[in-house]
Amino acid sequence: MTPEQALLRVIHCLDRAHESGFKTKAFVRALDIVRNTPPGEIEARVAADTLTDIDGIGKATAAVITDAVEGREPAYLAKVEAESQIEMTDAGRRYREALKGDCHLHSTWSDGGAPIEAMATTAMAIGHEYMVQTDHSARLTVAHGLDEVRLAEQLDQIAEVNAVIADAGHDFRILCGMEVDILVDGSLDLSDEMLERLDVVVASVHSKLRMDRQQMTERMVMAVASPHVDILGHCTGRMIGRRPPSEFDADYVFAACAQFNTAVEINCRPERLDPPRELLRRAMDHGCWFAIDSDAHATGQLEWQPHGCDRAAECGVPLDRVINTLTADDLVAWTQQAA
Ligand SMILES: [Zn+2]
Ligand SMILES: [Zn+2]
Repeated sequence: MTPEQALLRVIHCLDRAHESGFKTKAFVRALDIVRNTPPGEIEARVAADTLTDIDGIGKATAAVITDAVEGREPAYLAKVEAESQIEMTDAGRRYREALKGDCHLHSTWSDGGAPIEAMATTAMAIGHEYMVQTDHSARLTVAHGLDEVRLAEQLDQIAEVNAVIADAGHDFRILCGMEVDILVDGSLDLSDEMLERLDVVVASVHSKLRMDRQQMTERMVMAVASPHVDILGHCTGRMIGRRPPSEFDADYVFAACAQFNTAVEINCRPERLDPPRELLRRAMDHGCWFAIDSDAHATGQLEWQPHGCDRAAECGVPLDRVINTLTADDLVAWTQQAA
């Protein structure tokens, strides 16, 4: 294991543990330094015990680099690897094993922490056959959302990465998508022309989450009824312990989801776990489709699907209504017919 590989794996585990603070930042900084320093210098500094003289390398990061250079499994990595394992119930495992992909994840194109290639490498490593790249749309400026020009550039890059993956002989594909903001009036933050170029469209509410119940219902029904929208992202917008769920008439919204073949997302982020169980059961009563999505903003977070799998199992979501149990071809066929 090279120092770069060791640091990358530590960052993966810290992200998996939802450790977003100074610890992760320190390892990201150290990774950047290692990538921009000749390996010979790193080795010489390990031998002379002068790694921490480099601005940005502290005790913990130096220990990982030293272990890697000296051919040991870094002790700190072994610790975070063990501590960040994702638990899963046996019932949830049945769902996780059936998943062939992930339909909602971010990259450094918007507010994610890893480039598309790194997300794809991890998605392959955890057994997926595909992932849908869904960065934010332009309206979400705080998340560096993509306008149409940047989205078009991203689609080109996805095609290039897919070509590299295919050349390497991997049976894996990145599908084109976006997490498109649902604007206040229920319209979408992307032109029809660009929406048509995407394989899978997740639509989510990120603004005015406290709007009046009836207006919010109309706003969501409008979006869900769009022939371009395939998945309704984190429907209540709640942040557990921090932000209450939005208020809307769930029966109207889920009836529209069922009628217009828009899947209800089971969002796996630990702070979201959206929809809450009661609403998840309500969506089932309406015969909705579902997508169990990580909404990952880092490679380690791609391993969060078990959270949603456990909830799906607990509520008895029919496995054959989960769209990411489909193959990539069948999923795209499903989103096209839904259109
Ligand atoms: Zn979102
Ligand atoms: Zn998202």
